[in-house]
Amino acid sequence: MPKEPKLSFEHVSKAYPSRRGEARRLAVEDVTLNIEEGHFVCLLGPSGCGKSTLLNMAAGFILPTSGRILVDAKEIAGPGIDRGVVFQEYALFPWYTALQNVELGPRAKGMPAAARRALAERYLAMVGLTDHIHKYPRELSGGMKQRAAIARTLANEPRIMLMDEPFGALDAQTREGLQDQLLDIWSATRTTIVFVTHSINEAVLLSDEVAILAAHPGRLIHTVRNRLPRPRSRTSADVVELEREIYDQRYLAESRRAAE
Ligand code: ADP
Ligand code: MG
Repeated sequence: MPKEPKLSFEHVSKAYPSRRGEARRLAVEDVTLNIEEGHFVCLLGPSGCGKSTLLNMAAGFILPTSGRILVDAKEIAGPGIDRGVVFQEYALFPWYTALQNVELGPRAKGMPAAARRALAERYLAMVGLTDHIHKYPRELSGGMKQRAAIARTLANEPRIMLMDEPFGALDAQTREGLQDQLLDIWSATRTTIVFVTHSINEAVLLSDEVAILAAHPGRLIHTVRNRLPRPRSRTSADVVELEREIYDQRYLAESRRAAE
């Protein structure tokens, strides 16, 4: 029997209220996608194809206009600590140190001080910030801030990590370091990851599966199973080959649409 998906989108559509004088257009149209427990799935597509909308619906921040989103076969009703979110903009509180930021979740759950400190230190170590735990966000580089934000989400021990272009604002070298680190964290925690990106290379390097989206309206055009052996190298022939395959899929779908 096939395994029950951890997270599923069932015929999910989303229409935002239209701006004055504009026709109401679907930001997301009829997306059905099943994500298996422990998988690393990338939502890949150009700006405006509804990636953030899908992620925000999965987080429970906004509701679908129609369709359902299920976690462990149960329809979600709003945000929950089973799902952790990491945004492109580092959502750290500027008046707290890295350590205090990471301790927030465990503190809110009522974890005793010593235990939450130990937990926060463990996750900060996992993202390589052991030497910077007492620094404030303004004292951290962009990459370090995003590491702290990831540690903060990890400290809630979510079963699903929802990441919206988390490395999009970083320079290439920092981004590559963080990609490697995220894969290490994923192997250690085996959490399910839904990762939004517009980079085909990033999707091929990270994912078990790539959901290819297109815009106007935002829709799923194809999913590609990525069975390339890990660890993967950014420039290896098999990575480049799969990048080309995904590029072609996208191109074909756009051409078919244009011909309709
Ligand atoms: P992506 O993250 O792939 O760039 P989004 O999910 O942000 O795409 O947006 C999908 C579509 O929905 C776009 O056309 C965007 O303009 C529209 N949109 C997103 N958020 C809102 C909003 N709060 N109100 C109205 N339209 C929105
Ligand atoms: Mg977005």
